[in-house]
Amino acid sequence: MNSIKVISLAHLCKQLKTIWGQRLVPARPCSMVTCTQINKNAALHPLWQSELSVSGGTRQSPINIQWRDSVYDPHLKPLKIHYDPTTCLYIWNNGYSFQVEFDDSADKSVIMGGPLENHYRLKQFHFHWGAINEWGSEHMVDSKVYPAELHLVHWNPVTSTSFEDAVMENNGLVVIGVFLKLGAHHAGLQKLVDALPAVRHKDAIVEFDVFDPSCLMPSCPDYWTYDGSLTTPPLTESVTWIIKKTPIEVDQNQLEEFRMLLFTSAGEEEKRMVDNFRPLQPLMNRTVRSSFRNHHLLNIETRPSELAHQHSP
Ligand SMILES: [Zn+2]
Repeated sequence: MNSIKVISLAHLCKQLKTIWGQRLVPARPCSMVTCTQINKNAALHPLWQSELSVSGGTRQSPINIQWRDSVYDPHLKPLKIHYDPTTCLYIWNNGYSFQVEFDDSADKSVIMGGPLENHYRLKQFHFHWGAINEWGSEHMVDSKVYPAELHLVHWNPVTSTSFEDAVMENNGLVVIGVFLKLGAHHAGLQKLVDALPAVRHKDAIVEFDVFDPSCLMPSCPDYWTYDGSLTTPPLTESVTWIIKKTPIEVDQNQLEEFRMLLFTSAGEEEKRMVDNFRPLQPLMNRTVRSSFRNHHLLNIETRPSELAHQHSP
């Protein structure tokens, strides 16, 4: 908690001006309900109470990644991540998730390689999670859902002059998705968890500096990639998704701290910030590529012979 302090009122106002400006073009690639649900259910999170939440597109996210149907692409390079911890600025409750923002005015925190033709700058990261451990992630793998999912949002400084422009451009954004599963305590995540009580209410914001989010990456380099969209309004189809194959482990207490956050502002009737994910969208005419050979498929196919071997005398 040492690096976290409530920032001055003047600084806060300056930051909120920036934030409110950004919210005219929603920056969070995340959502909670399908378009059909929107029409049926009036009691929606405010994020989904606009026409912008109806996409009608052909490359929407999230999707269920079918391991068997993904195609190994030997041309996919290893993803290179270079984050400068000093570009981390603050953490805030945006009323839908908690989000950590970065200084993206220069090429200091960037990713390159992987499926990308040039480098992309880190803008922010945030999470999606469930009310209970049985669900919470936006993407699924072979219909398996994880209790939470991390999204690191980057934009293309070669083809766009700002994050807001990149949101509207084809291939303007790259989002890295990392699944969280229940397991060991995650020391890197704990610095974030310790900051959460200070941003419990909607629009709360505190400084959060010198943090390197690469500590939230699994060590395994394998990933899937596909062309998709933001998962919150305006749902623009501007995102190259990179979904890491291997989840990171977090413990129950860390997930419970996520669930203590609120969708609501101070003074309002409290609503817990849970189930802040968008449901699956149809794959349509898309191919999911993998950076790794499909050993999963090989294992399935060799299992019968292995069993036969085990049962032979
Ligand atoms: Zn997201």
